[in-house]
Amino acid sequence: MVEKLIIIGSGPAGYTAGLYASRAMFEPLLFAGYASGGQLMLTSDVENYPGYPEGIQGPEMMMQLRAQAERFGTRILDRNVDSVDLSHRPFGVTSGDESWQAEALIIATGAEAIWLGVENEEVHKGRGISTCATCDGAFFRDKEVMVVGGGDSAMEEATFLTRFCPKVTIVHRREGLRASQIMGLRARDNPRIAWKLNHTVTGWLGAEGDFRGARLRSTADDSEEDFTCEGAFIAIGHKPITSFLGGQLETDASGYLLWKQHSMTSVKGVFAAGDVVDTRYRQAVTAAGMGCMAAIDAERWLEAQ
Ligand SMILES: Cc1cc2nc3c(=O)[nH]c(=O)nc-3n(C[C@H](O)[C@H](O)[C@H](O)COP(=O)(O)OP(=O)(O)OC[C@H]3O[C@@H](n4cnc5c(N)ncnc54)[C@H](O)[C@@H]3O)c2cc1C
Repeated sequence: MVEKLIIIGSGPAGYTAGLYASRAMFEPLLFAGYASGGQLMLTSDVENYPGYPEGIQGPEMMMQLRAQAERFGTRILDRNVDSVDLSHRPFGVTSGDESWQAEALIIATGAEAIWLGVENEEVHKGRGISTCATCDGAFFRDKEVMVVGGGDSAMEEATFLTRFCPKVTIVHRREGLRASQIMGLRARDNPRIAWKLNHTVTGWLGAEGDFRGARLRSTADDSEEDFTCEGAFIAIGHKPITSFLGGQLETDASGYLLWKQHSMTSVKGVFAAGDVVDTRYRQAVTAAGMGCMAAIDAERWLEAQ
């Protein structure tokens, strides 16, 4: 049997695509993947998704999005897609030793923040250390925090955090920044931003639920010191999840899928939504919006065939 539409991914983008496509009677099949529910399963309070004036727990919100997509007929498989064949239509989708075919695909496999992978990181992930200032900055009001990184996103995160935090220290392994000149200057001019250049983080301090700061090593002379702060933001980049596509879709230099015509990728009939295409916003609400766009584009494209 050939499916009309297969959606790969179960974050806000995938579930919203499922909701729209199922309400349009396309009976989509959705692969939820190894991390069913996506990135918001990793967080507690979501306070900036419209419609929840008191905020909502990330996992609860994702269960509601899943139920809403299922209510209209989205069929969900809690399986990972291992590979796809986009060389001809219907497209092929393989998971384990089974294969499916579909006239159209929506790729909504998200992205992962790159973590440092140093000692004690797992203990403090999401409770002391974050990778998203827009999401978690408000939880660090009046606290001294650090930002790790030297690129534009690190400058942006640090500048944003100064709205809440009296002191934000940028820790970067080199003297020079990778950030654009304007972003670097803006950060340097901000009196609430302090600098710890030529230092790397070798581990995090404090027991679970009691984050205390970082152990830093000087890249100049290898000396080590404990740096006290109340929260840390890692801003060293994100990695879109696309390896299962085997390079069959065009990406930018960092591996993010490219939209060619509305939300359609470089292969006709393959659409993409959410953090897997988004180098800029990376929010649940924007991912959901793109899921809606991809579903509407897929519907129109399928109808035109
Ligand atoms: C700790 C944390 C807190 C956050 N807090 C907020 C917040 O408060 N507000 C906010 O707006 N945003 C927040 N964000 C950002 C938000 O979670 C993301 O922008 C959003 O989840 C992106 O949605 P998405 O659907 O594109 O992808 P994701 O949520 O990343 O979901 C991707 C999905 O693809 C699936 N997948 C991947 N590979 C495969 C495969 N091969 N086969 C099948 N499925 C696959 C995964 O299982 C997953 O379900 C937070 C992020 C993090 C990490």
